Order: sequence, then structure tokens, then C-alpha cells
Amino acid sequence: MSILVFVEIAEGQIKKTSLEAVAYAHAMGGPVTAIALGAADQSALASLGKYGAQKVLHAADEKLNKEVIQAYASVLTKALQDEGADILVLASSSLGTPVAARVATKIGASLATNVTELPDTTAGFVVKRSIYTGKAFAKVTLSNTKKVIALKKNAAEAKEVGSDVAVTPYSVTLSDADFATKILSSEKATGEVLLPEANIVVSGGRGMKGAEHWGILEELAKTLHAATGCSKPVSDMGWRPHHEHVGQTGVKVAPQLYIAVGISGAIQHLAGVNSSKYIVVINKDADAPFFKAADYGIVGDAFDVVPKLTEALKAA
Ligand code: FAD
Repeated sequence: MSILVFVEIAEGQIKKTSLEAVAYAHAMGGPVTAIALGAADQSALASLGKYGAQKVLHAADEKLNKEVIQAYASVLTKALQDEGADILVLASSSLGTPVAARVATKIGASLATNVTELPDTTAGFVVKRSIYTGKAFAKVTLSNTKKVIALKKNAAEAKEVGSDVAVTPYSVTLSDADFATKILSSEKATGEVLLPEANIVVSGGRGMKGAEHWGILEELAKTLHAATGCSKPVSDMGWRPHHEHVGQTGVKVAPQLYIAVGISGAIQHLAGVNSSKYIVVINKDADAPFFKAADYGIVGDAFDVVPKLTEALKAA
């Protein structure tokens, strides 16, 4: 049961969700080959050996620096053949999910996205997946020989089990058809910490009253080494960039800690945060629905509470 793992790169480094994918494949027991596409730090790639990859391939063609779904799916399909791998494991992310669907179609594989646990192989090959934006789970059998498994964040713990491995260059011939979709521009996240990857998120809602008040949230985020997020109306009004919008129609986060400030807790916002380990809510309305989903809550004015919290954390 040879397994190929597609690892995603951000600013040359491996994303945490991809380390989890390598750890997941290692825990499945197969020989694991990891593959990265586009520019990547070589020592970061070599370190994939620590998380369970026996082999690391790097397709460094500069055309792959742009995340074009067709091209990525072509390379992964070829790599699955070359490696004799029947299973592809990757992250259920904005890149991983569409790539997973294309590869599964190309190779005639069973596909499961948002997978949360290792497969149960006692009777077939059954995986548990999160459905209805995290409100329920489904168990599905992947019955085809070839399988594509896209993992929800935190499906496996990225722990060190080995040591660095050599990185092998992987060359592919790419055609114009692989680049039928053109990326005209891409927006770089401004925060120091990438929102989908963050361990801590400080998020603001309409209760922050305006873009000019975001400084107190940025200061809190900086103190905690957190990413900043926001509710949909906040990005719709242009107070914050769209890539910070958290929720059903935005980024889905799964940090250790989500701090929601001046956000009411509408169901569409909760859909993006309900995989957080701990939720802290700061809201001046004691009846705000978000308190029902909170592990800790502070009823108070954000403009009083947040600066005090930041000062206390700095002093700690
Ligand atoms: P509000 O609902 O206006 O809440 C502001 C909160 O701030 C209130 O609870 C208030 O008590 C509190 N507050 C006010 N002043 C202060 C203060 N000084 N200190 C502390 N607290 C204060 N929303 C999302 O966020 N993400 C989504 O992905 C999303 N997708 C949607 C999809 C659809 C199809 C639809 C219909 C809606 C979607 N929404 C989404 C919108 C969602 O329904 C809510 O309208 C939105 O989340 C509310 O944003 P908010 O909490 O910032 O604002």
C-alpha cells in the first residue's frame, strides 16, 4: 500500500496541514513518498522525513509556483503512476480539495474529503468525514483500489518519528492544456501569521465599529503571535481584507484558541470556527449567541477589555 502525499508550500515552507498529511500516511503504514510542487526550501523538504516520509520528490518547475489546479493534478497523477502508489493523501484545503477531485477523476479513485481519522480496514476501507460544516460525521467506504483522501485540519498529529531524507528532483513535461486556467493576480496575506494555519486567531466583528479601531486587535494578535480574522460584514464593508473573513463562506479555521471580539456568533460565522479547540468570546451583550459556543466569555466593552487583556499578557 504505497502512499503519495501532496505537500503544500507557503513562502517556501511546508504548511502544518501537510505535515499532518505526512504523519497520517505514515500512521496508515504504507511506504510514504511526499511530493512538493514549485519553489520550496530544500531543508524544509528534507525535514519531511522526520514526519514519516521515506522519500521526498520536488517538482521545482517555476511554472508550478502558481497554484494552477489542472497542472497540479497532472503532476500528481503522473507521480502516482511513477511511484506505483494507489493512495493519495493531502489536506482538505482551498488548494487540496479541488486538486483531490481532479486527481480522483483522472485515475478513477474513490474520494473522501474532510476526513478526520485513520481508515478502519477491518471491514473494507472505511473513513470518517466531517459533514454539514462540522455538525455531523459520516462513515464512508472507499471501495476502489485507488483512493484519494483529503484530510480535515488536526486529523493527525504532526509528530517527529524519523530523520531528514534526501530530496529527489522530479521533472515533468507540462503542456499548455495544464495551464488552461490563468491566474491573473494573487493576493498576499498581510498578517505575520497565515490565518488558515494559525494556532491562535484574534477575530473582530461589527462591534469593533470601524477599520480605524483594529489597532487594539492587531496589538493583541502580535502579543499572542496570532493571525487576525473577521466576520463577513467586516470584510464586506472593507474594514478588513476578504482573505480574513472567517465562516461558512470564508476561511475555515481550526486553531488551538479563537478569540472573537464584537462578533454576535451567527450560525454562518460559527461554521468556520467550530473546529477550534478553545473559543473565547468578548462581547458587551451577555445574550450574544456566541457565548453558547464559548469555552470562556467576557461580557464587556471591547475597547475596555482588549487593551487590558493585551497589557496583562505582556506583563505575564
Ligand atoms: P453583528 O451581528 O452586528 O454583531 C456585532 C456584535 O458586536 C454584537 O453581538 C454586539 O453585541 C457586539 N458589540 C457591539 N459593540 C461592542 C463593543 N463595544 N464591545 C463588544 N462587543 C460589541 N458571517 C460570517 O461572519 N461569516 C460567514 O462566512 C458568513 N456567511 C454567510 C452566508 C450567508 C448565506 C448569509 C445569509 C450570511 C452569512 N454571514 C456570514 C453573515 C452572518 O449571518 C452575520 O450577519 C454576521 O456573522 C454578523 O457579523 P458580526 O457578528 O460581526 O455583526
